[in-house]
Amino acid sequence: MSILNRARPEIRGLAPYASARAMAGLAPVTLNANESPWASLADAGGHLNRYPDPQPAELVAGLAGYFGVAPEHLIATRGSDEAIDLLIRAFCPAGASAIVQCPPTFGMYGISARVQGAQVIGVPLVASQDHAVDFGSVLEAASSPEVRLVFLCRPNNPTGSMVEAEPILGLCRALSTHALVVVDEAYMDFCAAPSLATEIGKVPNLAILRTLSKAHALAGARCGCLLADTPVIDLLKKILAPYPLPQPTVASVLAALQPEALAATEQQISMILRFRESLHKQLEKIDFIEKIWPSEGNFLLLRVTDGPGLCQWLAEGGVLLRNFNSTPTLQNCVRLTVGSPPENARVLALLEAYPG
Ligand SMILES: *Cc1c(COP(=O)(O)O)cnc(C)c1O
Repeated sequence: MSILNRARPEIRGLAPYASARAMAGLAPVTLNANESPWASLADAGGHLNRYPDPQPAELVAGLAGYFGVAPEHLIATRGSDEAIDLLIRAFCPAGASAIVQCPPTFGMYGISARVQGAQVIGVPLVASQDHAVDFGSVLEAASSPEVRLVFLCRPNNPTGSMVEAEPILGLCRALSTHALVVVDEAYMDFCAAPSLATEIGKVPNLAILRTLSKAHALAGARCGCLLADTPVIDLLKKILAPYPLPQPTVASVLAALQPEALAATEQQISMILRFRESLHKQLEKIDFIEKIWPSEGNFLLLRVTDGPGLCQWLAEGGVLLRNFNSTPTLQNCVRLTVGSPPENARVLALLEAYPG
């Protein structure tokens, strides 16, 4: 039995929108899309009068090569946020389905699920074990009949905790015909551990989210992707927006995948890791910081004596941190993104001067 049996039948039966661009290249004159024949004066590159290719082959091949999968195992999306939304819309019938997630975690899984009318089942990370995933309870929760998707974030945002590969693959085997296991590797570029991408094509109910927004410094371009077995990719293509990737986005991602750009990104990643370790050491000396969790991402999660008070003090000094005070188990916790040396120096100076 295929995992597609757990997708919405009406989506499986849907014929995808035939976009005009899909027929481009078949003839030299394209009068089938109501486009302007001229470039706009505002268009430096001169191609924006034409609709972009929905999934440019060069982009898909470049991303697939970089993330280590075959091109048919990848769909490029408007940020990985769009891939999360596509998965939930394709798999979860409104009012009759659920997702499992492990809070505290990235907020968009729950938001997209609620928008779709899917229930959100939380299996909390084990706070006393540096936010480890409780795989036994995840399997138990995910085995309930309405669950279609399980979201695991590795390393997890906002805790920075890593999730081991082996229990994820065990979970995939246990849920093989019941639920798709979605592993969000948004921060994997900052880790030494290998991606689970090597399992794509072998594990039909595994999907992996990657993004260009963090380590690749392209948050403003909005490009991410989902890696999964071909049936899942083809299903999502049926509900993909007709033209999800603006042409300037495609151009900047192709540029970011060039060898020189990738080498520069590698250097930036190693700088961020060094800055993270040095920030960690300096923060340890500050009294009101009660705990700093080990992090595999480009951020640190701290527990302080008064989280909201500290955020207020920092904001008055011109620095924003993410306040997690209202998140269960993260009272008085704040998340600090590792920045440039002057940014890190500024936040440290404010923390050292904090009167509370
Ligand atoms: C930032 C983030 C994303 C969103 O990435 P986009 O590609 O910018 O949409 C996805 N997952 C996690 C865990 C993130 O922290």
